[in-house]
Amino acid sequence: MQKSFIEIPSGHPFPLYNLPYGAFEHKGKTSIGVAIGDDVLNLTLLEEKGLLKVGALNGKKVFNHTTLNAFLATGKSCWSAVRQFLIHLLAVDTPDLRDNEALRRELLIPQSQILMKMPVHVGGYTDFYSSLEHATNLGKMFRDPTNPLLPNWKHIPVGYDGRASAIVVSGTKIKRPKGQLKIGEDAPICAPTRQFDTEVELGFVIGTGNELGYPISIDLASDHVFGVVVLLDWSARDIQRWEYVPLGPFLGKNFGTTISPWIVTMEALQPFSVQGPVQDPKPLPYLSRQNTNFDIDLHLQIKTQKMDTYKEIAHTNYKYMYWDLAQQVAHHTVNGCNLQPGDILGTGTISGPTPGSYGSLIELTWGGAHPIHLNSGEERTYLADNDSMQVVAMAKKGDLCIGFGGAEATVLSADDV
Ligand code: CA
Repeated sequence: MQKSFIEIPSGHPFPLYNLPYGAFEHKGKTSIGVAIGDDVLNLTLLEEKGLLKVGALNGKKVFNHTTLNAFLATGKSCWSAVRQFLIHLLAVDTPDLRDNEALRRELLIPQSQILMKMPVHVGGYTDFYSSLEHATNLGKMFRDPTNPLLPNWKHIPVGYDGRASAIVVSGTKIKRPKGQLKIGEDAPICAPTRQFDTEVELGFVIGTGNELGYPISIDLASDHVFGVVVLLDWSARDIQRWEYVPLGPFLGKNFGTTISPWIVTMEALQPFSVQGPVQDPKPLPYLSRQNTNFDIDLHLQIKTQKMDTYKEIAHTNYKYMYWDLAQQVAHHTVNGCNLQPGDILGTGTISGPTPGSYGSLIELTWGGAHPIHLNSGEERTYLADNDSMQVVAMAKKGDLCIGFGGAEATVLSADDV
């Protein structure tokens, strides 16, 4: 594996091979960059100085914006060409930047000195429901323990259109939502949620979209996807339970969704590709292709106000998902719906087969019946005010290890002003 002239310890989430993209603020200016070790390479400045020498871009400026949308719209061959150029520029054998200290100081900024911003403008957000284990667990709790899966589930990658404007970058506090709760036989009330939960997911970032009316075929679906972020889908279970029939999630979900600031590219993820689970019954022809997932470990962690460090409460993996990314894209567009650069497709909660691998509090505590005991002496079923949740994700294969940088947020009281 090629090394960088920047010293990066083994096991670091951002080796030369990874180069995830993000938007960051430094000295009052927002720029685009890639993470390399503990630094960020300022691509906005690199381009401005005429040093981004990538023929595929045809002299077009793509990083002179505060989000990545213009770059995403250039397409797969440009993404790949820029990646190859950056790997070469940062490689140990390339002197251009390595031996020019003044330029290096200008272009490489320690991540400790930057503030991460939303990497893309999200125009559309869709959340799927593609984990068989999660759909089964929720079906048992919300509906029928003996028949948890609805008849459509193994035929359709079930999803709903979420709220793009409420997607925020890691570190943004999430306020406890108020809404209608229906408790027992009493009349509904409007109050802060008592069942504040979160779901561990990945969010796939669409690169190039499709014209309204023209579906993306399953064979071309993955070419339209630029990269992946970690996603926390905040959920108010009591609001959700009362409102979701017949049109699905609404106010139980659209008050906040956290994403990690660094987008790991699909190209960097290729070595971690694995076959998905057997699909029976066989999906319809427009969804038929070997389903492929990625071997990405996700760790869900909690920290209350009384705790100094995060405690892991679940460890799951994206490889368990029943419906894969290409099937989600093909299904999303089969009716002609148009995806656009910067759209995010949430995978749905990533739950594995064992209780320690469930990706939400409602599953981990089985509807609140089995509280989680913390080393602070506290216990949790759902989230209390000032609790923080974090997901850290990492893919490993032999010596190759790439990280996502994590998504984290703290719960604010419903009355916070
Ligand atoms: Ca979700």
